[in-house]
Amino acid sequence: MPNPENHGSDARMKTFDEMIDGYGRFRETDWQHQRERWEELREGQSPQVMVISCSDSRVDPAQIFDVAPGELFVVRNVAALVPPFETTPGRHGVSAALEFAVQFLKVKEVVVMGHGMCGGCQAALTQDLHGNDLGAGGFVAHWIDMLDETREPIAEKFGTAGREAERAMELAAVKVSLANLRTFPCVQEKEASGELKLRGAYFAISDGVLHLLDEESGEFRPA
Ligand SMILES: [Zn+2]
Repeated sequence: MPNPENHGSDARMKTFDEMIDGYGRFRETDWQHQRERWEELREGQSPQVMVISCSDSRVDPAQIFDVAPGELFVVRNVAALVPPFETTPGRHGVSAALEFAVQFLKVKEVVVMGHGMCGGCQAALTQDLHGNDLGAGGFVAHWIDMLDETREPIAEKFGTAGREAERAMELAAVKVSLANLRTFPCVQEKEASGELKLRGAYFAISDGVLHLLDEESGEFRPA
């Protein structure tokens, strides 16, 4: 999610019409080079890995992991969050994608990838959008309030501003999503039987370094 407080210059960013030129290049190069692959993929997809990443324009999983079409099943949303298994009314987009990936595509790994300079995590930390109307920040506020409990000790220890606090929130959010993934019965079953692995990751935008979570120690270490 773009950080509204801290966005960069947009002067050199392409419009969608300009991106159609990119599509032209894709048709000339990648599409031509990978014709066989696309032909195979016409029959269906069978990715082994699902990634849950932030909508932020800087953290595209396919780009970071340099994978070919068909290899990565991706969900992106504000702050790369997975809500818990909920049966309340409403349209549960992440749950639907997870269910499809785990039960039908039978992916073997689900990766939650947080990232540095995450506007969604920053908003969770500052709670600046709390109380806003739906459509005026309220949707974001309600989405990221799933981090409220985790936020408390972080805000107490580091305050609500500065990279130290923000990074702690970003890393903690990955752990919240992993814990929420484990509230889904299908995830519990498949993790217990060894059919499914959960992984936590963190992409530090400033230096481009991917960190992987060691769940035993709770530490994130460079990959
Ligand atoms: Zn983000």
